[in-house]
Parts: sequence; structure tokens; C-alpha cells
Amino acid sequence: NLSKRLQVVADYVEKDARVADIGSDHAYLPCYLVQKNQIDYAVAGEVVKGPFLNAVNEVSKLGLKEKIHVRLGDGLEVLTEKDGIDTITIAGVGGPLIVHILEEGKQQNKRSGEETLILQPNINERSVREYLKNELYAIVSETILEENNKRYEIIKAEPVAEKVDYSEVDLLFGPLLSEEKSQIFIDKWKSEAKKYEYIVTQMKKADQTNKKKLKELTERLNLIKEMIK
Ligand code: SAM
Repeated sequence: NLSKRLQVVADYVEKDARVADIGSDHAYLPCYLVQKNQIDYAVAGEVVKGPFLNAVNEVSKLGLKEKIHVRLGDGLEVLTEKDGIDTITIAGVGGPLIVHILEEGKQQNKRSGEETLILQPNINERSVREYLKNELYAIVSETILEENNKRYEIIKAEPVAEKVDYSEVDLLFGPLLSEEKSQIFIDKWKSEAKKYEYIVTQMKKADQTNKKKLKELTERLNLIKEMIK
């Protein structure tokens, strides 16, 4: 069984998608999707030898070698045109690394911009949404959930012809999550507000302070307070 977090990623994958799961570690996600007959083609990419071998073992243990291709390499470089990938999943890494992998992949012509993207950043979701906006993607689904005392956000995005006009509020909180305002969402932003309050207070007390940074943080704190009031 998958973690709740990866289950949402799996639920976002369309039937018969051709999936590239990048940073796959044990390849639990592609294995689950193939076993459930949700898909029958996936590439599991890993840049680190240990996790790569975890994936190789899992796939061979389950007898899925025909359908899941485990490859060692950095980001999307493991993909070839013949894979015909139409869905890229990247879960369990930071937002900036997700952006880096997608950007490098674009430079290397490893993605066309037509793929469905299903992303689960551990930190800095905002950076991911901003990148999606600039890359002409629309956020079509979002989930926030709690598991093992951590909160996770999962974002599904589809290409669009024209840039969606996401506001700062949309980028920071998520256009759909901020509409829904679930209890977990409120809890997350209450705890973020506390962190920002603390930093802002400390910065104000300091003899020398970076005024620009202080202004930015204060503005962010105000957005958060507005969202959870
Ligand atoms: N995706 C799985 C999940 O969500 O449970 C595993 C997440 S694990 C915390 C992150 C994995 O990403 C690690 O195994 C790491 O080696 C891999 N990784 C980090 N940077 C990568 C890159 N540039 N290309 C491929 N894999 C990468």
C-alpha cells in the first residue's frame, strides 16, 4: 500500500498514461500504478545509486521489468523520445529542485511542455506554482494532507495556450487550496504565521536590519493573516 501522499499522486495519474517518475527511490509509485492496471508503461529515474538499486530490486521482485524501466541519471536526462512520456511525476523533493529538474529537462529537449505534471514539493510550493505559471501551465488539482505529523501538498498541472493570471495569493497558497480552505490548510498557515511573526519581531529588534527583507516578510505575513482570519 502506498503512503497517503503517494496515493494522491497516483490518483492524479490518468488511465494508460506513460509516466516518468523522477526521483523514484523504491519505484513504489510506478509499481502501484502498473499493479492496479492503471498504466502499463513507466520510467523510474534515480540519480543516486542506492535508491536506483532499491527501484531495480522492487521492480524485479514484483516481476514488472517489462513495464517499468528503471534508469540511473539526473532528472529528465534518463528519458528518450521512444518512451513517449505524457505524464511526469516528481514527489518528495524540494520545490526549487523540482523547478531545476523541469527547467534542465526543457533545455535538454527531454520534455515538450505538453506533459501533464504531478508534483509534490516538500518545501517552497510557491516556487513550483510560479514556474508552472511562467511555463504556461494551469493548476487543475491540488491536495493538502497530513501524514506522520507532516503536511504535504500535491499539485497537478496541465498545459494551456495562454498564461493564467495567478495572483501572489494563488502562488503562495495555491489557487484551489485557498478556495477550499480545509482545516489542514488553516493549520499549516497558522503555523507559518507564527514563524513569520517570530522572524519579523527579531528583525525589528536587531540594530541593523535588512529593510527590504523585512518589508517582504511583513507583506507575506500580512497575506497569511488575511488568509486565516
Ligand atoms: N519519489 C519518492 C517519494 O515521493 O516517496 C522518493 C522521494 S525521495 C525523498 C527523493 C529521491 O529523489 C531520492 O531518492 C533522490 O536520490 C532523488 N533525486 C534527487 N535529485 C534527483 C535528480 N536530479 N534526478 C533524479 N533523482 C533525484
